[in-house]
Amino acid sequence: MTTFDEWLTAYDVVYRAAASDLACPNCGHRTLRIAFTARPAAEHGDASFWCDTCVEGIYVSRAPIPAGVTARSTDEPAEDRNRGIPDYRLVT
Ligand SMILES: [Zn+2]
Repeated sequence: MTTFDEWLTAYDVVYRAAASDLACPNCGHRTLRIAFTARPAAEHGDASFWCDTCVEGIYVSRAPIPAGVTARSTDEPAEDRNRGIPDYRLVT
């Protein structure tokens, strides 16, 4: 099983590159996705980071939101905020 640290390493790469062509640390497919949720105008938020293929990933609290990235607002209803984010298996 892939460890939280392996997922966190992948998160750092995808976060810095703002790209998702990195191979998933669990299954190897290049289908990693990242989504930020934050209060309006906040500089930190919660990051959901998962793989669309194996549907595994991590959740990072108080993550800095990269410049140019639009975070989903915590003011939005959960069904809108979580649209497109699968109910993935959390690695802890
Ligand atoms: Zn995967």
